[in-house]
Parts: sequence; C-alpha cells; structure tokens
Amino acid sequence: MPEYPDVTVYVQAIEARVLGQPLEGVRLASPFLLRSAIPPIREAFGKRVRGMERLAKRIVFALEDDLFLVLHLMVAGRLHWKEPGAKIPGRVGLAAFDFPTGALTLTEASKKKRASLHLVRGREALAAFDRGGIDAMSATLEQFTAALRKENHTLKRSLTDQRLLAAVGNAYSDEILHRAKLSPVRLTGQMSDEEVTRLHGATRAVLEEWTQRLGAEAERGFPEKVTAFRPEMAVHGKYGQPCPVCGTKVQRIVHADNETNYCPTCQTGGKLLADRALSRLLRKDWPKSLDELEEHIAARAMPAAPAASGAAPAAGATRARAQGKPKART
Ligand SMILES: [Zn+2]
Repeated sequence: MPEYPDVTVYVQAIEARVLGQPLEGVRLASPFLLRSAIPPIREAFGKRVRGMERLAKRIVFALEDDLFLVLHLMVAGRLHWKEPGAKIPGRVGLAAFDFPTGALTLTEASKKKRASLHLVRGREALAAFDRGGIDAMSATLEQFTAALRKENHTLKRSLTDQRLLAAVGNAYSDEILHRAKLSPVRLTGQMSDEEVTRLHGATRAVLEEWTQRLGAEAERGFPEKVTAFRPEMAVHGKYGQPCPVCGTKVQRIVHADNETNYCPTCQTGGKLLADRALSRLLRKDWPKSLDELEEHIAARAMPAAPAASGAAPAAGATRARAQGKPKART
C-alpha cells in the first residue's frame, strides 16, 4: 500500500498541479527520509518538473537536467497538497516539496519510518529502482504467463512479488483473486492455461476499474483519503462480511502484519485455508470446510462434549465431534 491505482492517481494529481513549475525546495523534517547523497538534494532546487511518472509503486518527479526524485511511500506514507509554504505537520510529517503553486507534504502515520526519497541523475540510475516486475496493465497474456510461471509459488505470493508483477500488493491481490475466482494458495505451477487467462483478465479489469474510480474522486480534489480499505472492495478488509457475489462470509488467512481475505464459495470450492491465529486456537483440529467450521463454532459454543477417542485422526476427530454434539446437549 499504496498500490497501482493509488500511485497512478497520486502521479496524475501531482502532475496536474506542478507540471512545468520549478521545485523551489525540499524541506526535510526527518533525517531518515533522504537515502541518497549524490547528487545532493540542493541540485534539484529550482529545477522545473518535466513530468511525473510511476515506477512500480514509486512516484518519480522527472526534473530538468536529467534529475529524478524517486519517492516510495511504503505502507503508511501519504501525500497532501497544501498552500505554498505550508508547515510540515508535527510527529507524522516527513517532508515538504515546495512549488510556487503549493506545497506537497509527506506524512507517514507509523512508528516504523519506511518511506524513502532518492535523488538520481539519468535514466540509467532511475532504472536501478526497477525490480523487474511486468506492468500489470500493459502486459500481454504471453508476458503475464511467463512472469507467473517463472517460479512456483502460491498465487498470493506471486501476485504481490514486485520482481514478477509491479505495483500489486496485499489489497488489490485479494480483489484480483476474488474476481478471477482463484484460491490465494493455488500454486502457479499447477495453473491451467484457462486459469492464467482468467487471472490476466481479472488483474487488468480490477486495476483499471479502481484507477478510474479513484481518478474520478481525485477530480474533486487532491487524493487525501488513500487507504487499502474501501467500502466498494469485494473481499479485502471484509472479514466476516458477506461476499457481494454469493453472500458467503469472507474468510481470512492471518500473516505477520496483514491478512489475506477470500470467499470460500467463489474461490476455494468451499474449503477453508489455514489461518495461523485460528489454527493455533484449534491446534490440529483444523476445519477443512465451511460446514466443519460451522460445526466447530457450534460445538465451542456448547459445554464441552465428552472426549472421543484421543487417537482419532483429524477427519475422525471431526466426525467424533459432530457425533458428540447431541450428547453435549443432553
Ligand atoms: Zn463469494
């Protein structure tokens, strides 16, 4: 986060405000933001903006004299358009980019300051930031297939791998997989041609729709509400809410910092995928389907059933629990 649609709209919104304007200065509130020393940041001062570009998830200011300011927002970096000379907000404020038309301020609402800024000279130096992922919108089916089949991983991992596909992250990969009706843990090496074609179409459709939606919002003002969680999303951030296609409750797989959301009915043939938080709770008794989860929740809501055979394998244990339910009621 921010991903393809958000970064594209940022680039458009900034370009509309600063194209042809000189970058009068950059005020740095955090010493950690600027990660490059040569050329010094002062070299950029006074240079006009020749264009704004998106390089994967990075925002690039193409300046006169072949200079490029490269901004990576990471997870929590956000941009704001203020009046000329506006103060950098305290605590979350990292920098301000000053133009005659206004000040573009950068904030990062996170304890971990991960956003980064580099100044480089020349297209070759700029290309060093390219991690090699194909552009999801312009890639042909052949390029998309080749990128996806380069390595054998789960779809969730491959879609969010910047070396394979540029600018797709946790939020839009959930939306793309839901649109394509594919499981986040499907292995790319096992996908049929038909599935890859479906995924290619879904990737383009989802990114295009969201870029248009966010672009329309940005016509009313600078994009101030950039978030990975939007009410119009189908499954991302919608754990426990009904899938807009089939009404099944959206499920999740919890990772370290975030979670993957999916609809079991639309994407996994009703199968539930291992959720670490949930599976710790359930230990070996991991529900393999929605029906079993419903049973499990029902069983947990009741007084403990008498223990069935402790040596029963997982499937047997589930049966034992199901059979144990009526006993628990008595
Ligand atoms: Zn569904």
